[in-house]
Amino acid sequence: MHQRPSSLPALWCWLAWLLALACALPARAAPVDARTVASQAPLVLAPWVEALEDRGGQLTLAEVREPAQAARFSAGLAGSDGFNFGITPSAWWFRLTLANPGDAPIDRLLEVAYARLSHVALYTVDADGSVHSVATGGATPFASRPYAHRYFVFPLQLQAHSERTYYLRVQSLTAFIVPLHLWEPGAFHTHERSDYIVQAWYLGMATAMVLFNLLIFTWMRDRIYLFYVCFAFATAFAVAAQNGLVKEFLRLDAPLASDLASTFGYSLAIAAGLQFMRHMLDTAHTLARWDRALGALVVFFVASPLVFLFTGQTFIQTAAVLYLGAVVVGVAVGLQGVWRRQRAAYFFMTAFLLLALGAITNAARAMGLLPTNGLTANAMQVGSALEMVLLAFALADRFNQMRRERSAMQKKLLATQNELIESLRQSEQQLEQRVQERTIALQVANRQLAALSMTDGLTGIANRRHLDEVLLSEWQRARRSGQPLTLALLDVDWFKPFNDRLGHLAGDECLRGIARILARSVHRTTDLVARYGGEEFAFLAPGTDGAGVVEIGHKIQSELHALGITHPESPLGEVTVSIGVASLLPGSNDSPETLLRRADEALYRAKTEGRNRIVLA
Ligand code: GH3
Ligand code: MG
Ligand code: MG
Repeated sequence: MHQRPSSLPALWCWLAWLLALACALPARAAPVDARTVASQAPLVLAPWVEALEDRGGQLTLAEVREPAQAARFSAGLAGSDGFNFGITPSAWWFRLTLANPGDAPIDRLLEVAYARLSHVALYTVDADGSVHSVATGGATPFASRPYAHRYFVFPLQLQAHSERTYYLRVQSLTAFIVPLHLWEPGAFHTHERSDYIVQAWYLGMATAMVLFNLLIFTWMRDRIYLFYVCFAFATAFAVAAQNGLVKEFLRLDAPLASDLASTFGYSLAIAAGLQFMRHMLDTAHTLARWDRALGALVVFFVASPLVFLFTGQTFIQTAAVLYLGAVVVGVAVGLQGVWRRQRAAYFFMTAFLLLALGAITNAARAMGLLPTNGLTANAMQVGSALEMVLLAFALADRFNQMRRERSAMQKKLLATQNELIESLRQSEQQLEQRVQERTIALQVANRQLAALSMTDGLTGIANRRHLDEVLLSEWQRARRSGQPLTLALLDVDWFKPFNDRLGHLAGDECLRGIARILARSVHRTTDLVARYGGEEFAFLAPGTDGAGVVEIGHKIQSELHALGITHPESPLGEVTVSIGVASLLPGSNDSPETLLRRADEALYRAKTEGRNRIVLA
């Protein structure tokens, strides 16, 4: 722990300053007993150091030591840990007197614990008035340092019973922060080791993150990993530059290189961080207007190190405002992401909070509100490391989320495909069934049509066409088999007068009655009765001789008589039929027409012979 000066010396300083003002005498702080340094922690020198502002930065040591200037040194300008003058073009002189009242000489280390100071020069004035000077700083080569360390460390020697006055001249292009510590060399070496271990741990972790994500980028080709790599690299680089490690290990000896390194690191870290955020939160789609602002900031921060190179300190003040602006915009975008329940936004805000916590802890330690220990002294590194880890988690979460979405999409696609196949199969089945139904219906219709085309509409027995077909086929069969083929033609007697007297409907009914008698008289499957036309019917009997058919004809006549259809215009008083029968053994000289003609001639004879009779040709 740092030795914290009690408020008493501060009060004394203040009183002394008042006294000096009142007396207009040069103020002179009491010498610090260099032996009082603890064995494990440094002595914070701030309360005993007086400061003088050199606005033009032109004063020499000799001029500073002249009474007029020497009187301008004032105490009480320091904070608890050291001096902080923000960004200033002025050079500052610090004056300190160390005493060794002891009997033995002592070695001490004076540490200026801030790496980004452009010029740091220490002047030692001996009791005899001789002056030794060491000039170093961020703008001078690392080799100029009297002690190789990331900060500026000056070895001091104090002879027994001696007193020495030290003048420290500091000028800084960027932040002007001058914490002054006095160390016992052994304690410093112990502290140095643990300090470098912390730095190495942080940089090692950052390197691992960078390499791992670079590997993922080369594998996945997703630019977001590249942005993360840039972000982690730039952050680590900025922190290393801020802590003086870049200067120490990369030996950037050009005058502006050190300042440029940290500016470059911070700018690139912000640019990559914002770019990473844009991709993670998909601001181009979710927050189009903010996305443009983020894009502009990214361009600005990528270009800002160049601007800094040409404008120097003038630019830094503007840049500081823009750094703050970027933080505000980033937080605003992150909060809107949280509001939209974007998972990545939770990671961003938590990561940012951790970094902010690191910064706050750092500031609180610097203000003396928190004790100095391993955690508080390296709060920024801890915050930054946690931020890096958390953002890497955000990437992993995003990867998982994407994988989940993809598998859900695949499942849905598969289900849709299956549904489609199923519905296709069903519609195919339906179609097949319908075709089958239609085919059956068509077959039925065809059969009906065929039957209809062979049937007489009025009586329901075979029609003339059917008779002609059967006659032809039976004719050929009879010829082959040598069997007789017999045909009877029936004609209703005096049917015209029947119609005229009783009407057409009664005539139709009469015809139907005769057809029924005919149909009943068929006993062989080969026999066929047909309506030959008008009131004429035919009876075809293959394999039956004329006598057999005459017999059937008699049966028909007797059944008709039994039916007893009254015929008012007939001399017999009822409906009768005349029948002409022809029978022959088909030979090669005749045709079915022969049979028809003969039956017709027989029928004609039956008519002329008085009707209601059967004539066999
Ligand atoms: P015949 O004794 O000489 O055979 O005298 P007919 O009157 O029966 O002779 P004709 O051939 O002159 O008359 C046949 C009549 O049959 C004429 C027609 O009015 C009638 N006719 C023909 N087809 C049908 C039919 O489908 N229904 C009815 N109701 N009458 C029919
Ligand atoms: Mg007739
Ligand atoms: Mg007739």
